[in-house]
Amino acid sequence: MTENSNGCRETARLLDETKKIALEWLESLPLRRAGAEVAAGELIKALEEPLPDEGIPAPDIVRDFASAIEPGLVASPGPRYFGFVTGGSLPAALAADWLASAWDQNGILAISSPAVSAAEDVVEGWMLELLGLPKESSVGFVTGGQMANFTCLAAARHEVLKRHGWDAEKHGIQGAPPITVIAGEEAHATITSALRLLGLGSEGVVAVPADGQGRMRADGAVKALSEASGPVILCLQAGNVNTGAFDPFAEIIPAARQKGAWVHVDGAFGIWGRLLPSLTPYTAGMEEADSWAADAHKWMNVPYDSGLAIVRHRDAHRASMALSASYLAGGGFARDPSNWAPEASRRARVFPLYCALKSLGRRGAAEIVERNCRQARLMASLLAEDPNIEILNEVVLNQALARFSAPGADSCEFTRQMTAAVQKEGTCWAGESVWKGKAVMRVSVSNWATSDEDIRLSAEAIRRVLKENITQ
Ligand SMILES: *Cc1c(COP(=O)(O)O)cnc(C)c1O
Repeated sequence: MTENSNGCRETARLLDETKKIALEWLESLPLRRAGAEVAAGELIKALEEPLPDEGIPAPDIVRDFASAIEPGLVASPGPRYFGFVTGGSLPAALAADWLASAWDQNGILAISSPAVSAAEDVVEGWMLELLGLPKESSVGFVTGGQMANFTCLAAARHEVLKRHGWDAEKHGIQGAPPITVIAGEEAHATITSALRLLGLGSEGVVAVPADGQGRMRADGAVKALSEASGPVILCLQAGNVNTGAFDPFAEIIPAARQKGAWVHVDGAFGIWGRLLPSLTPYTAGMEEADSWAADAHKWMNVPYDSGLAIVRHRDAHRASMALSASYLAGGGFARDPSNWAPEASRRARVFPLYCALKSLGRRGAAEIVERNCRQARLMASLLAEDPNIEILNEVVLNQALARFSAPGADSCEFTRQMTAAVQKEGTCWAGESVWKGKAVMRVSVSNWATSDEDIRLSAEAIRRVLKENITQ
């Protein structure tokens, strides 16, 4: 027997063992507590040891690692995890993700992996069609919403400066015509960090006031636009991270266009609202923007890390991201993935997305969004039946904000206490947030695996915990 076939057999045993561990985890998701058993500090104690001089056989290390790390795992792909905005993982996406690692393709160039190049090409078309965005747009496959915002805003920076006679890639931004960046006061933190990374800074951003639901005020946007001069970038939002609200695109974008501003939409999870005709009153007009950031690892339920940077102006997208200027000269026929994202070498993160979309189809993708929105409303109405729970937002999407009260208690303090108690109880997990200066428990439903029964169980658990905390 050759050494190689021995090695293969060992690898097969290792992967069989690994599959068992993965299945145990997946099967435990609906049953285990939604949060982690231990905090990071405690886990370090279990993992920490001197790095061994000699290697340890792979099967031993994988099994030991899995059991040592497990108490620190969060059941976030599970059906009753409502923290942040966290998608699950569709079976087809998970399987493709395994293969992406086994195949270990370098998705830098078409020549380094025709497979990645071709799959990105196809998913680009599917995405634009699914989201109803301009056909001529380009899509960069990035790590998540943060990098999607960064990539889109880099394209924006290129284009608005080019229109003012400045080459941002060649000369940088020192000495460039100053760019006015307008964003909502409710813009996501990753917009600010993208602006920082792009050298545009955070302090000069013109912040437009938001209304009671976190939507940018159209009158404020129009005023900011009218006061701006020179190159202008306007950042809008689809899906406020607390309330799920949408900025009024149809009212604002025409004014921005008139001004010659670049309009970017941060739609990390809200953009998937485009899949539901019933949400058209909120999402209409978004297609008139210049760029859109989307997360696939949120509502399209692919494993981390997967985001999409979508840009109407292919040339601006490519000019801001291409590895070297020589790529700009037309290049070959095939798509080089690195021309559309900040990274050079990277994994084939498009494979899970390809398989996820195909396993869902248009209808299945829309159904996840529809179901989760309905479930957020169900959760809100079940919680609101309790006189000591108030829902602070209009549940227009998948987000609900709950505020708790108890006789004689400060509501902010009590809401924080309740959120911690719900997390500790473990039936479900929802995070703490602050909405308009008030502490809230934020519930986000964004998982294909969540059933209506999961919502009922979770609402019951929350109300049970509330009763216990009131009578204490
Ligand atoms: C989640 C989110 C982001 C950041 O996305 P990551 O995938 O965490 O990088 C940006 N904007 C909004 C509105 C989000 O909800």
